Amino acid sequence: MQTIDKFNFAGKKTFVRVDFNVPLDENSVITDDNRIRAALPTLKKILADGGSIIIASHMGRPKKNPDLKYSLKAILPRVSELLGVDVKFANDCMGEETAALAAGLKPGEALLLENLRFYAEEEGKPRGEFANDDEKNAAKKVLNESQKKFTETLASYADCYVNDAFGTAHRAHASTALIAKYFDENNKMFGMLMEKEVIAVQKVMTDTARPFTAIMGGSKVSSKIEIIENLLTKVDNLIIAGGMTYTFTKALGGKIGNSICENDKLDLALELIEKAKANKVNLVLAVDAKIADAFSNDANTQFVAVGEIPDGWEGLDIGPETEKIFGDVIKASKTILWNGPTGVFEFDNFTSGSRSVGDAIVEATKNGAFSLVGGGDSVACVNKFGLYDGVSYVSTGGGALLEAIEGRILPGIEAIRGY
Ligand code: AMP
Repeated sequence: MQTIDKFNFAGKKTFVRVDFNVPLDENSVITDDNRIRAALPTLKKILADGGSIIIASHMGRPKKNPDLKYSLKAILPRVSELLGVDVKFANDCMGEETAALAAGLKPGEALLLENLRFYAEEEGKPRGEFANDDEKNAAKKVLNESQKKFTETLASYADCYVNDAFGTAHRAHASTALIAKYFDENNKMFGMLMEKEVIAVQKVMTDTARPFTAIMGGSKVSSKIEIIENLLTKVDNLIIAGGMTYTFTKALGGKIGNSICENDKLDLALELIEKAKANKVNLVLAVDAKIADAFSNDANTQFVAVGEIPDGWEGLDIGPETEKIFGDVIKASKTILWNGPTGVFEFDNFTSGSRSVGDAIVEATKNGAFSLVGGGDSVACVNKFGLYDGVSYVSTGGGALLEAIEGRILPGIEAIRGY
């Protein structure tokens, strides 16, 4: 497999798929430019080699072409500033003018294409309302044909292809996966960000140092079932935290008061407990909770055993005994995966559990463990508590990371590694 550090981009045009889907405010001002910064090492390496770049990304969910609310033109000045070159802009990712702009690129120059998703061909999902499935299937067939042309055109701009958009690696879209087949294996590769993500997932899921502990938090079991099931075949310890605690507690006969609970998932919780036993996984559940008499930061609080929550009260975080139990397991681990907070960390009075998990992960990491944090809210926790530099890797890809942990093959990764 080709790798970006070995490749010499001198005199070559490179199509780089990035994830510049940055948040904008109502005046189209970027509110967080981390995604642009994350792609800089790749883009700078290509330019430093003496190559030129065609930068392609999606932004938001446009419904038509053009849908100027989602124009990438808004981010052009920041891309130029961060990259340190005057990046050119193509008002359309298709068309003769764009082809000419790409063809005219000189070494060291960069061109940003307009939002790929202005075209339905990027995602391959037909737009509009359909009276029935037949109509929809017919539209899909037509779109599949034009998607080929679309993908071919994107590929025609460049000599080589780099995918640095881990955030969309779980999508089999034109620019994230289909395009790769137009380049031979020496001329397609992961970008540096993507490479780091792939290695981090591999360290956790494949080349695992043991013991391996996963901490699954967040609000609901239902959104994490497939991940938990896959993890039960891989981990030594599975810590269940956050709102899903109470579905397990209730299933085991405990009293949970008004705590969040999925009553239709009680059987599933018991099945997961059995599965853990069968797989000799140490399933670690909370033993105490910080409870509140309202879903509010200012509510009255107390600590109780997790299965003894009085009516009118709800568990909004783990208690001190649980913090100690979780911490001891984490600190004895060599591989750690954290997804989801232990409580309602958005309320300052219910951050202690998530913070203690974060601190334990940092300590384990100092002692040589590999720790991967991923999934929107745990990343927010790591940032909120200033722990970013203390963990081994914080993933940039929410959905993509979760699918990788579920054990799925990500099309964006397969397309480069080989079909
Ligand atoms: P998820 O998106 O599933 O990872 O869930 C993250 C959300 O779960 C955060 O917004 C937390 O506030 C919420 N959460 C965590 N623990 C609890 C709890 N005990 N009760 C209600 N919500 C919770």
